[in-house]
Amino acid sequence: MGHSTGMRTSIATVSIGGDLSEKLAAIAAAGFDGVEIFETDFLAFDGSPGEVGQMIRDHGLEISLFQPFRDFEGMPEPQRSRAFDRAEHKFDLMQQLGADLMLICSNVSPLALGGIDRAADDLRALGERAQPHGIRVGYEALAWGRHVNDHRDAWEIARRADHPRIGLILDSFHTLARGIDVNSIRAIPGDRIFFVQLADAPQIDMDLLYWSRHFRNMPGEGDLPVTDFMRAVAATGYDGMVSLEIFNDQFRGGSPRSIAVDGHRSLVYLMDQVRRLEPQIAIDVPAMPDRIRSSGVEFVEFSANESEAVELAGLFRMLGFRLAGRHVAKDVTLWRQGGVNLVINTEREGFAHSSYLAHGTSVCDIGLRVDDAAATVQRARMLGADPFQQPVGPGELEIPAIRSVGGGVMHFIDDSDELARVWEIEFRPQTDDAAPADAGLTAIDHVALTMNYEEMLTWLLFYTSIFETRKMPMVDVVDPAGLVRSQAIENADGSLRLTLNGAENRKTLAGRFIAESFGSAVQHMAFATNDMFATAQALTANGFRPLAVSPNYYNDLEARFGLEPGFTERLRADNIFYDRDEEGEYFQIYSPNYGEGFFFEVVERRGGYAGYGAANAPFRIAAQRRAMRPQAMPKH
Ligand code: MG
Ligand code: MG
Repeated sequence: MGHSTGMRTSIATVSIGGDLSEKLAAIAAAGFDGVEIFETDFLAFDGSPGEVGQMIRDHGLEISLFQPFRDFEGMPEPQRSRAFDRAEHKFDLMQQLGADLMLICSNVSPLALGGIDRAADDLRALGERAQPHGIRVGYEALAWGRHVNDHRDAWEIARRADHPRIGLILDSFHTLARGIDVNSIRAIPGDRIFFVQLADAPQIDMDLLYWSRHFRNMPGEGDLPVTDFMRAVAATGYDGMVSLEIFNDQFRGGSPRSIAVDGHRSLVYLMDQVRRLEPQIAIDVPAMPDRIRSSGVEFVEFSANESEAVELAGLFRMLGFRLAGRHVAKDVTLWRQGGVNLVINTEREGFAHSSYLAHGTSVCDIGLRVDDAAATVQRARMLGADPFQQPVGPGELEIPAIRSVGGGVMHFIDDSDELARVWEIEFRPQTDDAAPADAGLTAIDHVALTMNYEEMLTWLLFYTSIFETRKMPMVDVVDPAGLVRSQAIENADGSLRLTLNGAENRKTLAGRFIAESFGSAVQHMAFATNDMFATAQALTANGFRPLAVSPNYYNDLEARFGLEPGFTERLRADNIFYDRDEEGEYFQIYSPNYGEGFFFEVVERRGGYAGYGAANAPFRIAAQRRAMRPQAMPKH
């Protein structure tokens, strides 16, 4: 792209909730350069066009587009003359607002006559009317347009209009929803593309209009190949704004700030991918480190008070963890088994303590092993994440960290000199006289994060944009009290696995956990073993009592998978859940609930089993509900 002004970003006001001034504040704070003004947002606002225009500029934003203007081209008289009069009226309004680009979407009226040349003639005539106002008009093919529903036809109309004030507007949704080959965009001259709108969507087979109006989401949050679309646009030499036009009921009901931050992150992430995939095209976006490879969870830190720390340590011991170290300067202990490091922090100041005050005993910090910790923070910051720092005490390392979504902290450990020796440097080794028998736990298989369903996409975009991970298909978990949506995010070798669990209401166990822990994120973590039956024996010997599974579960299981009765009996004896897919087998044991609904899981993956035992979740939830007594849910 010729200019070196940098990629400029915009978002339509309809994409987020709030009144116009709340929207503008959120959009400006998230770092956008411009806004698409939807006429309804303007009409609903109590202020003159001049005042609204000034308010937008006062936020440091420009009006990138005024829209929509509907049912214009190809009309018979008298509707044709009226359409031109309506357009003139909008041009006046736009001038008062300070907007110079109008969107016309392809006609959906049953009165529209069709005909490429007729539409081109109308647009040329409109270009003549727009000229004295200093306004340009972009023509967009709606996927459900009456005669024009394909950007290739819209381009042919704009081309034949042959007027400097008339150009094309591309919208990824309209092109991708109809499965139109995005490479057809590569033949369009970039300077005739007046504007580019971007939206993703989940792959759902439904009416196009309804899908578009309710289910669009940010690039990277859905299933459409928006990156391929934008690669084709970049190839044309287009150097205008990239703008989000997202119709999504959930987003409009969500926090304007948070949705705006997601939107900006999605565009930065998208353009970073396009830059990498089209190295021969000069795309003017800031360079940042590539998505970060993680080789797994290095540690999980709990915040607790002294008495709960004792209780938690007792639970760790039953799981086979031994006390391995004490922090050189703080009330922090290190618990180890296999490659798992668990940390209990009972400090009375600092982040862990404020997290304790907010959420009670809970996971406040997750440490990830990465290739380059500094690069991780750099990429995260460029994607809008907040860095995290707190004063470094004597004997402590400054470990690169960020705030994750949900308010927790993530630290990053790499192989560089000091970070690789963090445990030796910050902790004094301990000999644990009460050390239990090792239970064969080798690593953290997955960390399960729980959030409100409406926030799931925020979390998904955060983790997938920063880390080299992929999202797995969403599965529904049925809690008797409501639905929980579950989606895994994994890296290629399975060394980093996170599951996102979105609770639709507060009566589900997941929803109750969010309410009772005031928004704590980590609801359970699963340790890996290579031999579930040996681990089960060791756990029992350590005094661990697994979550009791209903005998009916095993009868069903035996029939479902055609298991040998002897094998089923072994599972039943140790309260082991079982699942199987084409690749392998999965074994699970759960701990009872701790505190506000936190629990541990132990899993064994045999063969290439890829899932998380979703089929077992309803039985696990039923068992947890049975085990729950009111007095077993102590307040922190
Ligand atoms: Mg559009
Ligand atoms: Mg699990």
